[in-house]
Amino acid sequence: MSKQIVIFIAPPGAGKGTQANLLAEKFGLVHIETSKIIEAKLKDADPNDPAMAEEKRKWLSGELNTPAIVKDWLLGKVSELAAENKSIVLSASPRTLYEAEAGMPEFEKLYGRGNIKVFHITLSEEESMKRNSGRRICEKNRHPIPNFPEYQNLTTCPQDGSPLITRALDKPEVIRERYRVYKVETEPVLDYLKKDGYTIIVINGEQPIEKVFEDILKNF
Ligand SMILES: [Zn+2]
Repeated sequence: MSKQIVIFIAPPGAGKGTQANLLAEKFGLVHIETSKIIEAKLKDADPNDPAMAEEKRKWLSGELNTPAIVKDWLLGKVSELAAENKSIVLSASPRTLYEAEAGMPEFEKLYGRGNIKVFHITLSEEESMKRNSGRRICEKNRHPIPNFPEYQNLTTCPQDGSPLITRALDKPEVIRERYRVYKVETEPVLDYLKKDGYTIIVINGEQPIEKVFEDILKNF
């Protein structure tokens, strides 16, 4: 199998991180989570750097981080992995038209257009609010623990045993803002890709995790 890029575009709470992890495990892809790259950069940032302080403020309030900065961080990571001949799955990227216009030509250069697959996982605002308000992540590796009944009694991460925490960005007012931002900033990426000749594979995200994954596998 030639190296490939799988892209998941979905609103917050659609479980794209979970699905990307499942796909990564099954086929040995590297899961690149833009949010993890941003979190890592902000964590290591010099607290006296005003540009990074501004990025941190945006992150915590649910606004999108500066596209040019995110794009550079992401492309750096992708070219690293392409050089190692690794297949990757991207959750939540490209998140803006700007990222798509800047990133897709680079992805095509590195991986070949025929090796890029785009999934759109759909989810209503109501369902997004419901799922995200109880969502947790693990402290050690940021593994997402969605707000599903089967996970309610968990106190530690099933994968690495570290404690589960709630992120500031999973507060209701921040979730609502993230959904609004998704509609305005991210959905136009789908139209851009369609116009550019990509086939968008639409998956109904309002189903149990296993069913969503099944639908993805049918189209993989
Ligand atoms: Zn974990």
